[in-house]
Amino acid sequence: MKILTAYPQNYSEIKAIINPPEDALFPWGDKIYNPSGKEIPPDIQWHEQVHLKQQKNSSPEVWWFKWLNVKEFRQEQELQAFTSQLQFIKRFYPKQAVKEALDEMAENLSNNYKLDINKYEAEALIRRRIKETNIKAYDNRRN
Ligand SMILES: [Zn+2]
Repeated sequence: MKILTAYPQNYSEIKAIINPPEDALFPWGDKIYNPSGKEIPPDIQWHEQVHLKQQKNSSPEVWWFKWLNVKEFRQEQELQAFTSQLQFIKRFYPKQAVKEALDEMAENLSNNYKLDINKYEAEALIRRRIKETNIKAYDNRRN
């Protein structure tokens, strides 16, 4: 994974549709575009890695087209990334950090992605997905 201090090639489309915050990151292929140049914490790198993996199911172009134009797709991709990020935090950070991270993620998911959900709905979505993922992992261990 390469991190570049630059805007991605489709930035004008992104800006027109979701108007991202100044320190937003943009995954593309095997690169993370980080126009603000701010240091990226490990859990957020992990989140972006999830998107790079998702893009491998099609291509960065197709993934971004769907991400920008299909709200349900955008929500699903972000839920996967935030859930994985929270599990990363659970593994490596103290308990209090997990609580704070979930709160921050819910805020972020409800404010920055034009999903028409409020913070409480965003938090419930992340919690539910974590629970489902844990149940799946439990079943896999038993079978
Ligand atoms: Zn994301």
